Amino acid sequence: MAGLESKKSIGVLTSGGDAQGMNAAVRAVVRAALHQGAAVYAIDEGYQGMVDGGSRIHPLSWDDVGRILHRGGTVIGTARCARFREREGRLQAARNLLQSGIDRLVIIGGDGSLTGADTFRQEWPGLIAELRERGEIDEATAQQHPALMIVGLVGSIDNDMVGTDMTIGADSALHRITEAIDALTSTAASHQRSFVVEVMGRHCGYLALTSAIAGGTDYVLIPENPPDEGWEERMCELLRRGRAAGRRDSIVVVAEGAADRAGHPISGDYVRRVLEERLGEDTRVTILGHVQRGGTPSAYDRWMSTLVGHAAVEDLLAATPDSEPQLIGVRYNRIHRAPLMQCVEQTRAVARLIGEQHYAKAMEMRGGSFSAMFDIFKAMAEALPSIAPPARPRRIAIIHGGALAPGMNTAARAAIRLGLDRGHAMLGVRGSFSGLIDGRIEALSWGDVEGWTALGGAELGASRQIPATEQLYPVARALETHGVDGLLVIGGWMAYQAAYRLHSERERYPAFKIPMICLPASIDNNLPGSELSIGADTALNVIVEALDRIKQSAMAARRCFVVEVMGRHCGYLALMSGLAGGAERIYLPEEGITLKDLQADVERMIASFRDGRRFYLTIRNERANAQYTTDFLCRLFEEEGGHLFDVRQAVLGHVQQGGNPSPFDRILATRLAAHGIDFLTGELNRGTAAGAFIGLAEGKVTTFPLKQMPDMIDSPNRRPLEQWWLALRPVLEALA
Ligand code: ADP
Repeated sequence: MAGLESKKSIGVLTSGGDAQGMNAAVRAVVRAALHQGAAVYAIDEGYQGMVDGGSRIHPLSWDDVGRILHRGGTVIGTARCARFREREGRLQAARNLLQSGIDRLVIIGGDGSLTGADTFRQEWPGLIAELRERGEIDEATAQQHPALMIVGLVGSIDNDMVGTDMTIGADSALHRITEAIDALTSTAASHQRSFVVEVMGRHCGYLALTSAIAGGTDYVLIPENPPDEGWEERMCELLRRGRAAGRRDSIVVVAEGAADRAGHPISGDYVRRVLEERLGEDTRVTILGHVQRGGTPSAYDRWMSTLVGHAAVEDLLAATPDSEPQLIGVRYNRIHRAPLMQCVEQTRAVARLIGEQHYAKAMEMRGGSFSAMFDIFKAMAEALPSIAPPARPRRIAIIHGGALAPGMNTAARAAIRLGLDRGHAMLGVRGSFSGLIDGRIEALSWGDVEGWTALGGAELGASRQIPATEQLYPVARALETHGVDGLLVIGGWMAYQAAYRLHSERERYPAFKIPMICLPASIDNNLPGSELSIGADTALNVIVEALDRIKQSAMAARRCFVVEVMGRHCGYLALMSGLAGGAERIYLPEEGITLKDLQADVERMIASFRDGRRFYLTIRNERANAQYTTDFLCRLFEEEGGHLFDVRQAVLGHVQQGGNPSPFDRILATRLAAHGIDFLTGELNRGTAAGAFIGLAEGKVTTFPLKQMPDMIDSPNRRPLEQWWLALRPVLEALA
């Protein structure tokens, strides 16, 4: 009995607007709590369920949260509750929670919900005293629950919360908006039409700005940075120039909360009238509305929400009555904790600044990369260079290497437009290094790369070949013949090797003494210096979608699936798709597979099917072990499973390299390309010729000297020495 009494009880609720990924968070909270021996209760319909009590507060078991990762919305419901705003309602809520012994809460919601939770927490001792006085709880209960401990997770598609890089649901909303813009682009181009797309975000332009970049649109209006007076004419002029330079469509993105400098709202319909009247263009408005909240969560919203849900439980179980409540979010893909109310207050402060027309300060509070992205967007949308091109422009060549990665085109387009904006001549090399030798190199204009943002594959072509010793001379000749002053290499492992090779041979071949920089583009995510490479997020989304279908296909049987994913010697895709797809077991090349592992796996599998399980998902990286192949694993499991379950395999193969780049990959590609062009411009202006590779390290774009590459890689295994995501392994184990 004593043991039971000391068992900690956690309640989890989703409140306010729903957001994709809330289910992944709920699942993680429930399973992490059970894993740690706590009891966990769902509170249905947010605070409404807490005030109503009864069957709306109910325990959840491991299986209750099975098969919900892929579902949009929230399976435990959300609501707005006026009664919870009153003390009387909160008193009722406290009474109901105590009936299940709950004094720890995970609240998944927006700033309103989190504020409500904090008020409740502060009042709790008073509420308990009152319930005790009224004789509604006994003294022992009052003694046992002196404090309410809370942890907040931010569920909001707007990505409007200070204290986390991303809120739960924002990435999925961005997927919906980007899909819509892609669709509109194709119809707009066919009819030479203009579209105004209105997206959510009352106080926050995140969705508008990022979707404008990801969608390759012409103009964006966001609350934090209203356009100056006379913007209508400038917008029309910009669109005219774009048309003249080859655009067949015009798309303007307007955030719901967009306004001019005087604070007057700018509606989508107003923009439409401006375009029709001043440009005489057939213009349509599309208000995306609730579509943005709907649909299945993106891979990111599944794994990120899983991480924060897991961390919330760790914090909550370690909390004491004096702990300051925390908001758990992510920074640079790591769990990030910050004082809950401070985050809420700062978030409100930004909204207030916008309301009071202190726009520069509001932009500043959104963070440096937000303003930088706004500037990058403007530079790419403008068909005319922002500086008068010099008499002899510098010539920067763009070349791909390695396997195809979705987002290569996005990076090339951004680099070309931003390079042109800086007054450079931009050259595209077709067919990688052998194409360069054959002289397949041409100047590309602003209009030539129109539409590349959303295109999968690589318009310039890629190849896994690196120049052999006898090819160095022709490569050097080609660079000289075409007067190449700087080289931007976008690609994977082989592209990096090629750049390294040229760089190390610069004493022998003076043509290689030019600035060069590598941008990481590989679905394998195996490049040094970057925590994420362009293409990996798209591949992850492809895998997760396939896993959803595989799960559906297995509904009728008791089945184990072995899914083989790419990644070569890097287990990133296997681990992250395992987290996002709810795999029971993953096999990574970093860990290998032993006979002992397999025996334990078989035993666990049999036990869990005996326990009533109907589906068991394992994900195997293609090179996890040379002998224990996917086929071998399947045969082994089939044989050992007997009549208990059957086994199927799915080798996902090259579909993982295909597909149009995800919004995240488009943003990353654009950001890295901008830094790549900055780097080359800086070198050219200084007359220096450094070689570097670039990447995201702890959220910041960082450049590393090419010389340093060998010290950062595990060469035989073709992967970086440091892989941040391996630290996420225990989360998967706790939830499987
Ligand atoms: P969001 O959490 O998405 O910002 P709302 O602001 O609508 O959404 O809040 C959701 C619910 O949280 C409200 O219906 C109410 O029950 C509760 N809530 C919000 N603000 C407060 C507050 N200041 N005090 C108490 N409860 C609140």
